[in-house]
Amino acid sequence: MASPPTAKISITRVEFGPEEESSVLDVLRSGQVAQGPRVEQLEAAFRDLVGVEHAIAMSSGTTALVAALQALDLTDGAEVVTSPFTFIATVNAVLEAGATVTFSDIGDDFTLDPAGVAAAVTDATAAIMPVHLYGLPADMVAIGAVARAHDLHLVEDACQAHGALVAGRPVGSFGVGCFSLYATKNVSSGEGGMVTTDDAALADRLRLLRNQGMRARYEYVMAGHNYRLTDLQAALAIPQLGRLADATERRRQNAEKLTAGLAGLPGLVLPETPVDRTHVWHQYTVRVSEGARLDRDALGAALDTFGIGTSVFYPRVAFDYDCYRTHPRVRVAEVPNARRAASEVLSLPVHPGLGDDDVDRIIDVVRMLLAP
Ligand SMILES: *Cc1c(COP(=O)(O)O)cnc(C)c1O
Repeated sequence: MASPPTAKISITRVEFGPEEESSVLDVLRSGQVAQGPRVEQLEAAFRDLVGVEHAIAMSSGTTALVAALQALDLTDGAEVVTSPFTFIATVNAVLEAGATVTFSDIGDDFTLDPAGVAAAVTDATAAIMPVHLYGLPADMVAIGAVARAHDLHLVEDACQAHGALVAGRPVGSFGVGCFSLYATKNVSSGEGGMVTTDDAALADRLRLLRNQGMRARYEYVMAGHNYRLTDLQAALAIPQLGRLADATERRRQNAEKLTAGLAGLPGLVLPETPVDRTHVWHQYTVRVSEGARLDRDALGAALDTFGIGTSVFYPRVAFDYDCYRTHPRVRVAEVPNARRAASEVLSLPVHPGLGDDDVDRIIDVVRMLLAP
């Protein structure tokens, strides 16, 4: 008898349940769809998650980053040091805010190397912007020390790391935290973002920037923008924040199962979580390095033919495009570790929608393809 066709295991699955349906329906029926009480409720939930005094909802992770930088009132020519191995929004946000972007290389954990950051600081540096990539926080203890030593702002790109901890402290609480609520992120409102801070004056500027620089109706106190999130979007994200701990635990179990099952294959380097940091497994990313039976692209293609979706985050270092290489406010750098990562990384499915049988199938197929 023929076995039933196996469903494809996708790299992400966007799933909303009955809680989201009724939450969004309530907003629709209330007639209050723009920013209102649901946005406030979501902000309160983020204050709890991150353990800060202020959370300010924004229209996306990108506008959260832009607003955070704008609220810092950087001077002309100010430089922001960030990771060359990130989603391009990190770079675009710095440029949008009018600053110059400079880069420091990453370490084996795919996040900014603190020693490299210290070496990249110049007299013009105003801020450090670490990226908590794949759900793993950067080394915020060491990077925080660099920021304090040079009196620099710290803006965390926590778009992929909702709820991750460093030394027991949530990401987004070390500096100004920026989160994304994009469809495929660990918490989603379709499109959306959040800025977190303990600084009341900064929070005030962020709320003004978000709403046309308006303190009261038609009372403008700065040139602002429309970075608002809607109550419809907030209503989608609120139930997910309530389930975030469970969803993250499921991601962690999937990651541990993958790591146990994929150990010992030649050339396959599995992700490790450094001590004193927690990983929230936005992605499970391996390196397919020298000595592997297939190279990264061949492995990804082979997995696809077996119905297993994979993705490359990211195929090039962030500035490695003509529009950035020639940009007057992009300072390119030698970043061999980031270049090597871009050529070797492959993300395997780890999302909470996977069953144990799905994870077993991923392990079996990868082992079949890479075992000597
Ligand atoms: C998703 C993401 C962003 C941007 O968030 P959007 O909500 O898509 O604007 C920024 N940085 C990183 C690392 C991201 O993954």
